[in-house]
Amino acid sequence: MPTTILVWFKNDLRLLDNETWYRACQQADCVIPLYVFDPRQFAPHKLGFPRSGSFRTQFLIDSVTALREELMQKGSNLIVRFGLPEFIIPEICAKNKFSHVFTSSEVASEEVSILNALTHILGSKEVGIQTFATSTLIHPEDLPIAVTNLPNQFTLFRKQVERDWTIRQQFEKPEIKPLPQLEPGIIPNLNLLGLPAITPDHRSVITYKGGEAAAHQQLKEYIWDKDLLKVYKETRNGLIGADYSSKLSAALAVGCISPRTIYHEVKKYEQERVTNQSTYWLIFELLWRDYFRFGAQKYGSMIFQGHGISNKQINWKYDFEKFNAWRLGKTGVDFVDANMKELLLTGFMSNRGRQNVASFLTKDLGIDWRWGAAWFESQLIDYDVCSNWLNWAYVAGVGNDPREDRYFNIESQVKKYDPDRLYVKLWMGK
Ligand SMILES: Cc1cc2nc3c(=O)[nH]c(=O)nc-3n(C[C@H](O)[C@H](O)[C@H](O)COP(=O)(O)OP(=O)(O)OC[C@H]3O[C@@H](n4cnc5c(N)ncnc54)[C@H](O)[C@@H]3O)c2cc1C
Repeated sequence: MPTTILVWFKNDLRLLDNETWYRACQQADCVIPLYVFDPRQFAPHKLGFPRSGSFRTQFLIDSVTALREELMQKGSNLIVRFGLPEFIIPEICAKNKFSHVFTSSEVASEEVSILNALTHILGSKEVGIQTFATSTLIHPEDLPIAVTNLPNQFTLFRKQVERDWTIRQQFEKPEIKPLPQLEPGIIPNLNLLGLPAITPDHRSVITYKGGEAAAHQQLKEYIWDKDLLKVYKETRNGLIGADYSSKLSAALAVGCISPRTIYHEVKKYEQERVTNQSTYWLIFELLWRDYFRFGAQKYGSMIFQGHGISNKQINWKYDFEKFNAWRLGKTGVDFVDANMKELLLTGFMSNRGRQNVASFLTKDLGIDWRWGAAWFESQLIDYDVCSNWLNWAYVAGVGNDPREDRYFNIESQVKKYDPDRLYVKLWMGK
């Protein structure tokens, strides 16, 4: 039984319902909680923008800061380092004679290869490593099918899962174990990471705050205080303001809240207030999120290839000028430009907007969907590798969409979702 465990926090920046953290605190006499800022995340993309832009990075910095504050209040700390985790972690373990590393499991190819490299180096130093699945609503062990047999259509997956499903209970916050004497390390700011400062825009859907407490506050506000869950299905295609959807995606992406916590809160709401299609629909969307995570595991690096997971060959175009016009909201198509401006100036865009601009880039301009996905990766405050790349592949026609010919006609989308042009006026001023 290990007695000294280093917990490597990644996209699970929370203490509640975090199996990695829970098990470590249960089993160890001494625990080092660690976060590593990995320079690969902040390096420039070949298209000229940073892989992780200012909005997303600030949200991450705030979430790491909040985790450190909570740990400090409880007599521990979050050790922070900047560098390559696969080298930093074995070094810390060796210096402090730590016997084990606990961390979350990974599915996307780059994250998996870092984890493999770490496991290899730790193995050579006789340090054990254990991983825990902390990201999905359905625990991978409870899936009724092997990931390799994941159906190619979401509906088939959902039906199989819903036939007889168990959502596990949450892990409570454990009692915190002592930390050895260690230099805590500084949490970098945007400037240190080579990123520009953010200018707040009053049109932003919400003021995003990182951290576990802020995520719980957002959940409470959306579900209980504003009582919006009961109308979610009717409002979820909205474009303006805080209330049309939960705005929990950023917190989910860095793991300030678990999908299970949201699920159990929805169930409580159903018991205490109302059960209807809307309350079901929020869980339905969380299932999409799971589906893409399991999909990324099944398809590996195919999710980053031009032919996507469907292996369909499309002659993509590489017109940088047109791409840049799209990126900066200057295509001349107001609805597309309004959405792209919202993304550029706030780091967020509605789901309806994302579908439209992705369709426009890939189906109207014919540009390689991976350029669009890379821009979203840089810009989205809620960027999640699986949800982003597989949603893009889906809209581009190289993903899991059973409809071969899906096309978003911008004119009719505007008529349906922005009939009074309020959204376009908000962002384009006309
Ligand atoms: C091209 C494209 C790229 C996208 N990239 C991302 C991304 O990087 N990160 C991300 O979290 N979502 C992504 N989405 C999905 C979706 O747009 C966002 O999750 C949603 O808009 C976030 O707002 P919300 O939290 O208010 O969502 P809500 O409508 O309140 O939904 C609740 C939660 O369900 C999940 N969810 C909802 N819709 C989807 C979906 N289509 N796919 C996967 N999960 C979903 C999210 O975790 C979300 O927070 C993308 C969609 C498209 C079309």
